Amino acid sequence: MKHAIQLPLTLLALVCVIHETRGQSSASPAWKNYPVGEIEFINASPDTRGARIYSAIIPEPVDYITRCAREVLETLYYSPDDSLPDIRKITYVLKEYDGISAKSGRPPRVRIEYSTRWVERSFGESDTAKLEHETRGVLYHELTHAFQLEPQGIGSYGTNKVFWAFIEGMADAVRYVNGCFTEKDCPDGGSYMDGYRTTGFFLGWIAKTKKPDFLRAFNRSTLEVIPWSFDGAIKHVLGKDQDIDTLWAEYQQARSRQE
Ligand SMILES: [Zn+2]
Repeated sequence: MKHAIQLPLTLLALVCVIHETRGQSSASPAWKNYPVGEIEFINASPDTRGARIYSAIIPEPVDYITRCAREVLETLYYSPDDSLPDIRKITYVLKEYDGISAKSGRPPRVRIEYSTRWVERSFGESDTAKLEHETRGVLYHELTHAFQLEPQGIGSYGTNKVFWAFIEGMADAVRYVNGCFTEKDCPDGGSYMDGYRTTGFFLGWIAKTKKPDFLRAFNRSTLEVIPWSFDGAIKHVLGKDQDIDTLWAEYQQARSRQE
């Protein structure tokens, strides 16, 4: 076989373990058969080492992406009856470029690219479990962009930092609560306006300590709090006596006690 990847037997055994544990959808019955749209998988750089490693670790990418999409939907929404973006097709492209991953397009069609060079880097210690964890985490992040709601009345991703921090913070929050970060991935200090992991771990902490379905409520708040703001959404979801700066200070204190 021209593109067969040569993995030591021990690694192949690990691949099988991962495949089996990921074989069952962890989505609840409500989402188990939810139509996430047509998934098109394109291996645009099949001759790269990264693409061969990817194929060995994720032999059924369409099933894998479908399962992850349902997990993201379940994290963001109360039920399939909610107001959901109408995604009809997700094109997932594995290709060689400098970078990690990116989502483009808007409903009904979105495109996600994933870098074979990033696969190679993430497989640096030949750790298949670590690579699968990283690949799934990146996928949760990008699929969140496909399915999340967006703030209204405050501009756009490119023009407004609150909008941007919500979009990128929620994507890393979904990755975090689905187990694809470790606690040591959490940056120190910063602000809830920093986006990505700094915002994502904070939103995950609120979900873990204040309100189990917080991420669903926070996602939905974009439909109900217009113009949207972090503080307005916190008050809407957790109560008028709450405010974002006090919560952030409490979160920082909780983190410093853990260390
Ligand atoms: Zn992102």
